[in-house]
Amino acid sequence: MNIDSIFQAAQTAFLDYKNLSGKEKGHFLDTLAEILESNRESIVPLAVRESNLPEGRINGELGRTTGQIRLFANLVKEGSWVEATIDPALPDRSPLPRADIRRFLTPLGPVVVFGASNFPLAFSTAGGDTISALAAGCPVIYKAHPAHPETSRKVAECIHQALAATNLPTGLFTHVEGGIAEGQALVQHALAKAVAFTGSHAGGMALFKLANQREEPIPVYAEMGSVNPIFCFPNKLAKEIESLAKVFVGSLTLGVGQFCTNPGLIFVPASQAKTFETHLIEELKGIPAAPMLHPGIAKSFHDSIQNLETRGELRWIKVAAPKHLLNGSAALAEIQVSDWLKDNQFQQEVFGSFALMVVYQEMEDLSEVARQLQGQLTITVWAEADELEAQVPLLNLLEEKCGRLLFKGAPTGVEVGNAMQHGGPFPATTAPNSTSVGANAIKRFTRPIAFQDMPQDLLPNALKDGNPLGIWRTVNGRITME
Ligand code: NAP
Repeated sequence: MNIDSIFQAAQTAFLDYKNLSGKEKGHFLDTLAEILESNRESIVPLAVRESNLPEGRINGELGRTTGQIRLFANLVKEGSWVEATIDPALPDRSPLPRADIRRFLTPLGPVVVFGASNFPLAFSTAGGDTISALAAGCPVIYKAHPAHPETSRKVAECIHQALAATNLPTGLFTHVEGGIAEGQALVQHALAKAVAFTGSHAGGMALFKLANQREEPIPVYAEMGSVNPIFCFPNKLAKEIESLAKVFVGSLTLGVGQFCTNPGLIFVPASQAKTFETHLIEELKGIPAAPMLHPGIAKSFHDSIQNLETRGELRWIKVAAPKHLLNGSAALAEIQVSDWLKDNQFQQEVFGSFALMVVYQEMEDLSEVARQLQGQLTITVWAEADELEAQVPLLNLLEEKCGRLLFKGAPTGVEVGNAMQHGGPFPATTAPNSTSVGANAIKRFTRPIAFQDMPQDLLPNALKDGNPLGIWRTVNGRITME
């Protein structure tokens, strides 16, 4: 693999691709979605075999993958996402005339994407990061995840078919296999303009540091994990204790707990703790151990549990099944809030079906928890309406600590839509002002540029007088289609 020639090809492709119309980019993405669908029968068995995830889940994940490709196709075809903003010249303004200034979002250039192990399709080769970068106008150099190499190669083939079918250069997507050294070399290449990553805290931080040590530092959009706390308020829990226990255990054990939105912390009032525990035990009974994504993830799950088992502050409600090369099982421990507050170790993610039930005495405890809580992808509050009204200052604090605040249901299950925010303050991510899911993910791979007094003919269509693309723009501070 010659990294320099990969980037040179990507850069050459970029200089044309960035000027392609939204319709043409959208056509390429729609073509890719069709090709992936038509290869469903060969992709699904590969992903099932390599990830140990059930066929139903992988089938659903392929649908989610093509669904998000079509979301971006529609977004770029419609075109308003570029945030075109025009302040026309005011030659007669006093004391000084105003120049004609027009601003929009332009793609960054070649970007490096690291695939995730826990979504072999939706967060991997043709997953959200790759597609949002291509939609923005950026070529992708993709570092395949070694946990699902054949799936990754097959999907990469589909991307190349789609490029060929729409007469686009192969340099727009390159599939790179290798280990840490290869991944780091990609991040260090001078032509790389951004990095997207989903995985461990250690991996994300290593890449973040590397990107910042470059002569030209570049943004790293690393999604590194979260414990997704759930706060149960007393009246709500008393009223719906059985159904909430069911919802919690369902979310905790979904996909053997291998989701970044898996709930690893649940705060329960002391008055309800015993009854809630009884319901949790009942719910957990029917859930068997199951294979995890790969032996490395199973080992890291069992090692983390073993480590926690040495902690005297914990009382185990459900111990994990004995250490296994591949299988993981649910585990649950109780801790008092006063102990939890003393050590940030209890905020660390255990990737798999493990949660700490933190027992609190009074609402004031939760304010202290909120102050100490590290950044999260999600926080969930289960409360009655009057309980929420009485706790506005607490909610105000919790907003500061997460990317998505839920008041119903469980955090697992991330809708791919226009309003979704999947990100959050550090250490959940390295870029709290961005999302890796949903339409706004495209903005990570752009930068604003303003053109001052540029001749009309040279302006991008999105910024020309007469609005030839018919998109929503802000002209003189007013949102308009004119
Ligand atoms: P990972 O170890 O972080 O690896 C993810 C990708 O990053 C792989 O391609 C890996 O390359 C690369 N990488 C890791 N460290 C690197 C470094 N220092 N320099 C350059 N590249 C590096 O994640 P994983 O294999 O998917 O799972 C391991 C752990 O990550 C899990 O146990 C879990 O804690 C966490 N995880 C979190 C999420 C989430 O959604 N937040 C998702 C999946 C996993 P190589 O594999 O080639 O080394």
